[in-house]
Amino acid sequence: MELYELTAHKLHELLVEKKTCSVEITSSIYQRIEKLDKKINSYITLTKELALEKARTVDKKIGKGEKIGPLAGIPIAIKDIISTKGTRTTCGSKILSNYVPIYDATVIEKLKKENAVILGKTNMDEFAMGSSTENSAYGVCKNPWDTSTIPGGSSGGSAASVASDLASMALGSDTGGSIRQPASMCGIVGLKPTYGRVSRYGLIAFASSLDQIGPITKDVKDTAILLNIISGHDSMDSTSVLEDVPDYTAHLKNDAKNLKIGVPKEYFVKGIHKDVEREVLNSIETFKKLGARILEISLPHTEYAVAAYYIIAPAEASSNLARYDGVHYGYRSIKSEIRNPKSEISSIVDMYERTRDEGFGNEVKRRIMLGTYALSSGYYEAYYLKALKVRTLIKNDFDEAFNKCDVILTPVSPTPAFKIGERISDPLQMYLSDIFTIPVNLAGLPAISIPCGFSSDGLPIGLQIIGKPFDEGQILRIAYTFEQNTDYHLKKPNL
Ligand code: GLN
Repeated sequence: MELYELTAHKLHELLVEKKTCSVEITSSIYQRIEKLDKKINSYITLTKELALEKARTVDKKIGKGEKIGPLAGIPIAIKDIISTKGTRTTCGSKILSNYVPIYDATVIEKLKKENAVILGKTNMDEFAMGSSTENSAYGVCKNPWDTSTIPGGSSGGSAASVASDLASMALGSDTGGSIRQPASMCGIVGLKPTYGRVSRYGLIAFASSLDQIGPITKDVKDTAILLNIISGHDSMDSTSVLEDVPDYTAHLKNDAKNLKIGVPKEYFVKGIHKDVEREVLNSIETFKKLGARILEISLPHTEYAVAAYYIIAPAEASSNLARYDGVHYGYRSIKSEIRNPKSEISSIVDMYERTRDEGFGNEVKRRIMLGTYALSSGYYEAYYLKALKVRTLIKNDFDEAFNKCDVILTPVSPTPAFKIGERISDPLQMYLSDIFTIPVNLAGLPAISIPCGFSSDGLPIGLQIIGKPFDEGQILRIAYTFEQNTDYHLKKPNL
């Protein structure tokens, strides 16, 4: 196998045994990026010089016989919504096309302390709004399994880079499914941690009560390793929780005996693609054979989740995105490009309007309008407050279910990857891609997507395992058990 194909834990072994060095690993990945990323478009910005410098530092340490951590010298890609000091961070938007953060997000500080090698910043839907990575000001990202289809979104660049061996691992962010849905469509592993598990400091905000950063990797062990590093309380994020961080790799045991797995009946309804249904039901059979007990459960408010999310997330976004005014950050309209190319800016309000009109894409504008409307006086009670009540009901459904079972198994996305352009002009259709992932964010729970099969067209299908709050260890164990007994995670796209 080539170096670029290997998992982070395998690369770590080779580094420790001195069978390779980080410069060799890093160079093998950049060579592949230079050859293939024109086809995939998974990166917005590459940081090759910085990466090689870091790789050389790690190689020196190894040469001197110093002990290295599990991520030292390992190439990792970062979703372009996570602030990186000195490296442009665009959020997939024109409005941040020239924005260079002056500080690192906490997760980046942690990775740097571990001497991980940051390859660059990955493509994404603008401000993480989308399910297909088509809403990017830097061009559509493609699914490596079939480049006429989308890689999922919004962390499509992170997922596509890992699936095409253009990164050993990656970080994404998940507000309503943006780690799990692209991981599922690209045939790799993606975990959304419990809300509060990972610091959001330096994660550019979309919907602050839902956003979480998490790992996107080639296998479950790599997810556990990366989660170990990024988790933990941070005084810079008051929503990060003072809960101990266990060693997640210690949970990786091949054992599902007597495990109580809940399967919600509301998740197997009309509209789910027959291949997705077949593969998820097969996975349930696999768990039965491994000694797990399967229980039918009910999450009765599931049908309201998408509607509640599309009030709450845009409401928070409309407030979070108010800061992009052409003064504080990024792009500023100097002359109007849209209305009258020759007219000069006439006032500050005119400048705000033009900056936002030119800087934001259509989906972001739609969300700002939706959110502003839902929060406006007279409508607040009818929409926003109502949505918050629904959110509580959804959370209660899960609490109730977890009285009976240890974890919940569901599909990740109702369909495999769809064609580029297929849903872009039909936002409601697009929003329904996240019907199985959104309830998890509304309830603040941890959930993982792991590869569990393929469609008749050869596109990957994912299985979602949802856990109790801060029970990432349990879902990792179950995911690991599934992986040890199947080989879907070993399949690679033919690029
Ligand atoms: N697709 C959902 C949205 O558009 C979720 C995105 C996300 O998780 N960032 O809002």
